[in-house]
Amino acid sequence: MSSKFELPKIFADFTVVSIPTRTNFRGINFREAALFQGPEGWSEFSPFLEYGPTESKTWLTAAIEGAYRPWPAAVRAEIEVNATLPRVSADQVAQLLNRFPGCKTVKIKVNDFVTDSDLIEATLDHIPDAKIRLDVNGGWTLQEALLNLHDYHLRFGKVFEYVEQPCLDLSDLKKLKAEIPIKIAVDESIRKYLNSDMGELRDCADIAIIKWAPSGGIAAAKELITQIGLPTVVSSALDTGIGISHNVALASSLTELPYACGLGTVALLVDDIVSPALIPHEGKLRRERVVPDSALLHKYRATEDRQIWWQDRVLEIWNSGLSDEVAEMGWI
Ligand SMILES: [Mg+2]
Repeated sequence: MSSKFELPKIFADFTVVSIPTRTNFRGINFREAALFQGPEGWSEFSPFLEYGPTESKTWLTAAIEGAYRPWPAAVRAEIEVNATLPRVSADQVAQLLNRFPGCKTVKIKVNDFVTDSDLIEATLDHIPDAKIRLDVNGGWTLQEALLNLHDYHLRFGKVFEYVEQPCLDLSDLKKLKAEIPIKIAVDESIRKYLNSDMGELRDCADIAIIKWAPSGGIAAAKELITQIGLPTVVSSALDTGIGISHNVALASSLTELPYACGLGTVALLVDDIVSPALIPHEGKLRRERVVPDSALLHKYRATEDRQIWWQDRVLEIWNSGLSDEVAEMGWI
């Protein structure tokens, strides 16, 4: 079986890898990513499988920028990262947190206080001085947010650094912000309102979650951060070490970086494609260009039909205007 068209030469050494995840994350049990290289180094294209061409185009723009454009100057050589805890059972918490050595900030995915407060208890048993972030992925109504956050605050007091996307609706977030003593971070809202007035987010939130690939690359992310005007936490989309390295480059180039970044997520994969894996060391990650390890590339190489599926995915976006845009920007 082969693709109908040949992938342009700019996607040199294009290889799709499939790495199993340690726990079910966003309903997935393996992570597929397309890797390729350009004159500046390796890059990653890994929009989630259900994303259509419009959304994926932003990710491909980021990927091409990563391979063809130099990184911006660094303000710092390493960045602090947080641990990320999916909704696992409480007895798995200690084992999973050990995968994030030195991380004192823990982001926990929660549904509600009744079912998930034991995850916070287990985290505090393991790291008594942990700063906790709750991530709700927009899952609460305003009323649910008020009730849940009241209970969390009553039970755990000041351990919370912030709650991430408690509600989806901006007007709900605005009302919530006036009522609760916990800071609010926006993640999904940023992409949802990408082409509207980003300054509006300042009335609804205290912190912006920014991701390299869904922002369209480092330059676009930096522009977005300026427009939003909130303190920023750079986070991953469960990238391999290649994608993480570009996120770290973004984070390391920001003048203000007051919080730990959500970039320790390679720990949620059974392995990385880079050796040593880009997992935190003493709670930090270093800024460096990384290359895939050839043995790991071989080990996790996806099947031939998946290679072709991803090549076709790239070609569809490339041929519907991206090639012209990239040429216009002078990247290639
Ligand atoms: Mg989030």
